[in-house]
Amino acid sequence: MPMPHGVKTDPEFPIPDRMQAWVLGNPGELSMTEKPVPVPGKAEVLVRIDAIAVCGTDLEIIYKGPPALIRGQQPFNMNFTPGHEYMGTVVALGPGVDEYAFGDRVTVEIHAGCGQCKRCREGMYTACHNYGLNYGDKNKGHRANGFTTDGGFCEYAVNNINTLVHVPDGMSDEEATLVVTAGTSMYGLTEVGGLVAGESVAVIGPGPIGLLGVAVAKALGAQPVILTGTRDNRLEMGRTLGADHVVNVRNEDAVEAVRRHTGGKGVDYVLECSGGASGLNDAAKMVNRGGKICLQAFPGEPVPVDVAYLVRNNIYVYAIRGEGKSGTHRAAAFMEQKRFDAGLIHTHTFPLSEVPEAVRHAKDRVDDAIKVVVKMR
Ligand SMILES: [Zn+2]
Ligand SMILES: [Zn+2]
Repeated sequence: MPMPHGVKTDPEFPIPDRMQAWVLGNPGELSMTEKPVPVPGKAEVLVRIDAIAVCGTDLEIIYKGPPALIRGQQPFNMNFTPGHEYMGTVVALGPGVDEYAFGDRVTVEIHAGCGQCKRCREGMYTACHNYGLNYGDKNKGHRANGFTTDGGFCEYAVNNINTLVHVPDGMSDEEATLVVTAGTSMYGLTEVGGLVAGESVAVIGPGPIGLLGVAVAKALGAQPVILTGTRDNRLEMGRTLGADHVVNVRNEDAVEAVRRHTGGKGVDYVLECSGGASGLNDAAKMVNRGGKICLQAFPGEPVPVDVAYLVRNNIYVYAIRGEGKSGTHRAAAFMEQKRFDAGLIHTHTFPLSEVPEAVRHAKDRVDDAIKVVVKMR
């Protein structure tokens, strides 16, 4: 297709005018349609999407709406394409882009902040103060693919070069979709949390983010790493990914078990990845005095919290919204060194034509699905 002045293409990667794309109708309704292939602007590239993982947050968006925000509104019937954990191949370069080349394999961070607000300037672009302002006369250029702009359940997407991470040679497309998940844990533990080797970590909730949280914590030198959850198969996977102890909360009290494994003291960090109503209160009882709790998942409803306990014990509570400070680059480096095998959590694969089936597997955990990947080629 003819691209505007300044956009570079390569005959080796012919780009059609239109592409197949899934769009969200009413809650829970996805339908396949055709859209124009987007055009990269300054500091952007066009990525041909080769694989995309289904995330728990995609399910929230598809069935309930938030945290997606399209032109300031709910994402339903907005011709919006969800999906954010994708990887692919660079096939067109926006004006002036020479940081990436045609054919580069890349995986993508979700957020391109506005680049001008206080948080973006600090590298906390997932907490951009101009979040979602990318339309009309409020256009600050912010993008969060699959949240505030079109995502990856389609054939092509535009990405700011700041959001790209080179996929190491030898890493499969499927594994590359998991880099951002690992990068999110990295950001929570080190950039925001300040974890140093030898500190102890408990992870609540063996979903994809919790399991990779275990793997990243262990790779960072945490000791011990304790994983709590309800499903034995997932806890076993956590053990394979590096957990020193796993606790099935159906069989034993999670708080007591964490205290027992740490000589009664509790851990230095808790990653709350379950989004359960008691998650924060449980985490407070697992962490030691002066320890830190990182919230990576959210309950569907407001929940009561024992604030007095947090205050009396000088407990730090912080939340992260996805990746930040380029933690994904460090996660990719860890994965390239095979410090952990993120690919273990990938359980199911579907073609682009079967996105609703992929979503159903992830939502209903059909056949013990953990991470479901849609692979385009
Ligand atoms: Zn995600
Ligand atoms: Zn910003």
